[in-house]
Amino acid sequence: MENTKKLRTWLDDFKLSHPLVIAGPCSAETEEQVLKIAHELKDTDATVLRAGIWKPRTRPGNFEGVGALGLKWLQRAKKETGMLTSTEVANKDHVKLALEHDIDILWIGARTTVSPFIVQEIADALEGTDKIVLVKNPVNPDLALWLGAIERLYSANIKKLGVIHRGFSTYEKTRYRNNPNWQIPIELQNRFPDLPLICDPSHIAGRRDIIFDICQTALDLNFDGLMVETHYDPDNAWSDAKQQITPDTLIQMMVDLKIRKETD
Ligand code: PEP
Ligand code: MN
Repeated sequence: MENTKKLRTWLDDFKLSHPLVIAGPCSAETEEQVLKIAHELKDTDATVLRAGIWKPRTRPGNFEGVGALGLKWLQRAKKETGMLTSTEVANKDHVKLALEHDIDILWIGARTTVSPFIVQEIADALEGTDKIVLVKNPVNPDLALWLGAIERLYSANIKKLGVIHRGFSTYEKTRYRNNPNWQIPIELQNRFPDLPLICDPSHIAGRRDIIFDICQTALDLNFDGLMVETHYDPDNAWSDAKQQITPDTLIQMMVDLKIRKETD
């Protein structure tokens, strides 16, 4: 991965004086839910709406997403609010559909990053795209596997790349759902300083009361952005109910976070 400088330019295109904020529900549930959340986020620091429509759940029998139908809801949310849209893709069919519906940012989830053949299939389907592609870390604390996924995408001539740190699973009981192991994203940042680095505090935390602290740590470590699961009725969300925060909480959090300026 030579000349990674170019990787930064997409982030600069946002012309933000604060971190990039991606917000929205864990899952798109209904069209009304997606639109209501998008409208509540519209005039906040969040410039990108997130909503999972294909949900690779750990155990069977849980809500696995509304599927391609949700792409139309995201398109409508973009039209009504001007927010950019993002969703998770987990195979080449998802990529094809997301591109057909002009989704702005595609991300690869933690359960997909562990699988080189699937990552390669996604990279091939995205070959040469000018969409932004974000790669979450693999579920296990394996920097090489994360880097391998990034290299596969970079080799497919995808220049608008970034990474999302969402923590690593561990069998031990800790205060986190997924242990942050901050040294891993820090090492990645040292090796590729021009690769935009976004923190997903929601999946690290697994609970809403520590989202703020995780965001502050990420900003103190010079992360470029935050992806925060946001729902107007978190307790009744169809997935990840315990970790979602309301748009109002997000607004207050962005006021309270100490954000380092370039000149600091
Ligand atoms: C998500 O973003 O809702 C998700 C499933 O995340 P992860 O891939 O980090 O588990
Ligand atoms: Mn989630």
